[in-house]
Amino acid sequence: MFVDVAKIYTKAGDGGRGNAAMRREKYVPEGGPWGGDGGRGGDVIFRVDPGLNTLLDFKYQRHFKAERGEHGLGKGQYGKGGKDLVVKVPPGTLVKDAETGEVLFDLTEPGQPVVVCKGGRGGRGNIHFATSVQKAPKIYEEGEPGEERWVVLELKLIADVGLVGYPNAGKSTFLAATTAAKPKIANYPFTTLIPNLGVVEVGDGRGFVLADIPGLIEGAHTGIGLGHEFLRHVERCKVLIHMVDGSGGDEGRDPVTDFDAINQELELHNPKLAARPQLVAFNKIDLPAAADHLVRFKQVVEDERGYQVFPISGATRDGLEPLLQAAMQAIERFQPEEVPVVEETERVYRAEDPRAFEIQRDHRGIWNVYGRDIERLVAMTPWQNEEAVVRFQRIFRRSGIENTLRKAGARGGDTVEIRGVQFEMEEGIEE
Ligand code: GDP
Ligand code: MG
Repeated sequence: MFVDVAKIYTKAGDGGRGNAAMRREKYVPEGGPWGGDGGRGGDVIFRVDPGLNTLLDFKYQRHFKAERGEHGLGKGQYGKGGKDLVVKVPPGTLVKDAETGEVLFDLTEPGQPVVVCKGGRGGRGNIHFATSVQKAPKIYEEGEPGEERWVVLELKLIADVGLVGYPNAGKSTFLAATTAAKPKIANYPFTTLIPNLGVVEVGDGRGFVLADIPGLIEGAHTGIGLGHEFLRHVERCKVLIHMVDGSGGDEGRDPVTDFDAINQELELHNPKLAARPQLVAFNKIDLPAAADHLVRFKQVVEDERGYQVFPISGATRDGLEPLLQAAMQAIERFQPEEVPVVEETERVYRAEDPRAFEIQRDHRGIWNVYGRDIERLVAMTPWQNEEAVVRFQRIFRRSGIENTLRKAGARGGDTVEIRGVQFEMEEGIEE
């Protein structure tokens, strides 16, 4: 129900180009090929980081590119592989293909790495192409392009900080002042029966999810308005901010008495929540009545009972920053129940039939061919290299694409386009 969403671009590294060097030896004009392969491009890998709880990071960085592989060298030396790019995501992140909406991964386990974009393999150097017939090939391959895709990340928010307090203490106002949430604010009890969540940013891409936990007064635990699902949800809060109406409200209550009443209610209602660390927000400090209560309140709650008290005003936004920073620190100090860390497991690659291809004739009359293997072959062929072009033609014929084109109606002289490269169909006989 409460979902954070981010759309990002990911691109794996291209493979490095193969090398076409020839061994040079005295008195041997062409000593044979010894151009090494290009290095493999880095993968883009998503990994769950249990320390993350929002997708805030992705508001600031949307492009993720892994390193390309280095080109192959002479003397049979391989190019260095590109480094993988590891993108940290919070537990519970759903990764969808932005174009199709298909769910690619459901990332729940800490440490579980998945390959979102696979790096291109390095192009082969001419060292691989020597045959008994062609002893000094000049042929090499370009590196394979790394995969790229737009993905949508979705995260069901789990509250880190719960907001408790007397009705009208100012919880909704505080939530509205610190997050993008737009809760209802009104001057009567039980205004907030619908739970509200928002993401609080504290700088450096850090942040936490704040939830208003409404209705915690006498009798409310008998079930006014709140579903069990929400209560289970807020039980996972790591820290509580206890909002106190420092002014004592219209009835002139004592803020210390309010504070105690809520804590008692909390204990009765949900001991798990009551055991959480509490930061005390002494709210409405802009009102004179609150300023009057502050000294005694601090004496009792801070000095005698050891809580941290933060005088704030949700209305004027005074004093919010120190409270939010303290909440962030308390979350980071929070020791969750042991989460087993899964050791690096096998990488998950998605299976497709790489040989499958598709033909589409566009409005210009050009025959477009799509397919993993064929597009890869086109990208890896250095077109200025005659031997490479001959090799391309041989593989192309065997792929069955040419026949399929002819059956679809392509004739000699027609233009065929594959991954941005255009070819002219030869006159030929249909097999
Ligand atoms: P909630 O019931 O705890 O969610 O409280 P609300 O946020 O709905 O606020 C109750 C009333 O207190 C509203 O009339 C708010 O405008 C008012 N209020 C909230 N925060 C402040 C504050 O810092 N100063 C003053 N003067 N009024 C506030
Ligand atoms: Mg409210």
